[in-house]
Amino acid sequence: MTQKRVLITGAAGFLGSHLCDRFIKEGYHVIGMDNLITGDLRNIEHLFALKDFEFYHHDVSKFVFVPGHLDYILHFASPASPIDYLKIPIQTLKVGSLGTHNLLGLAKAKNARILVASTSEVYGDPLVHPQSEDYWGNVNPVGPRGVYDEAKRFQEAITMAYHTYHGLETRIVRIFNTYGPRMRLNDGRVLPAFIGQALRGEDLTAFGDGSQTRSFCYVDDLIEGIYRLLMSDCSSPVNIGNPDEITINEFAQEIIQLTGTTQKVVYKPLPTDDPKQRQPDISKATALLGWTPKVNRQEGLKLTFDYFKSLSKDRLYEAPHGRDFPLKS
Ligand code: UDP
Repeated sequence: MTQKRVLITGAAGFLGSHLCDRFIKEGYHVIGMDNLITGDLRNIEHLFALKDFEFYHHDVSKFVFVPGHLDYILHFASPASPIDYLKIPIQTLKVGSLGTHNLLGLAKAKNARILVASTSEVYGDPLVHPQSEDYWGNVNPVGPRGVYDEAKRFQEAITMAYHTYHGLETRIVRIFNTYGPRMRLNDGRVLPAFIGQALRGEDLTAFGDGSQTRSFCYVDDLIEGIYRLLMSDCSSPVNIGNPDEITINEFAQEIIQLTGTTQKVVYKPLPTDDPKQRQPDISKATALLGWTPKVNRQEGLKLTFDYFKSLSKDRLYEAPHGRDFPLKS
């Protein structure tokens, strides 16, 4: 039997790197691709010695070529934090739109199945709670998050069009807030922000009054859900996330307890269009994939904190985008 081959874009990112690990473990030949704008090779350094792993430094917004056959493509390349959307808005739009188009074309040429990473951001600041897949969302196309939200909505549209028009095998996962080892420090997302602040001895910054909610999924659970979705025959979008919802204030208290920091919570202005509430309805994933999250927040946060503690101190002060995008305090 010939070995199965998978292309993973965004391979050096948080989720992409965990996907690479999973497919290596499953016995695949893994081709990772990343332009390294927000990805970090340290996330996949351990894979370079393997004969079943290869890496292409490439921007998928430009024509993508991969020699040989491909069984699966997982498109996970994209900036994924609100700071990124403000700093690199055009790249964010291009990777979700042009990048997806290129990868759909590649999937068609290779007769491969493609799974694209969509997001709970397609629901915008939701007026329906919790969010199920049949809710169409409440998105501001010209707000700061519009570059991400609309690129992902376009991504879903073009992916469905390739499915219906070309008969391509496609999968769409709507990913809710996910956390775990290899999240990028200082990229503005709440978990690395709080843990980074605790480790640097700074106050924890809650935005707004901290009453907005999120529902955090541990990365291993998410990867399992994605793997099952890829192997399923479901071409319509599926939410994957952990429905355990908490306020940002409660989350800050959990981080204070976990890290033992003696710092306090300080309040900063709420970013424009910051969703007030978010919780996945995962009944579709449970019914179709037999999937539910297994790792509770206490367990997941401990594993994540252990990871951040194990990094060298310098990394706590690293800018999220290298020298081109210095960290402003
Ligand atoms: N947030 C916060 N302090 C921070 C960073 C984020 O209170 O230092 C809030 C943010 O306003 C949002 C929530 O935490 O309501 C989650 O933010 P994140 O950027 O992690 O993800 P998203 O808003 O995309 O869910």
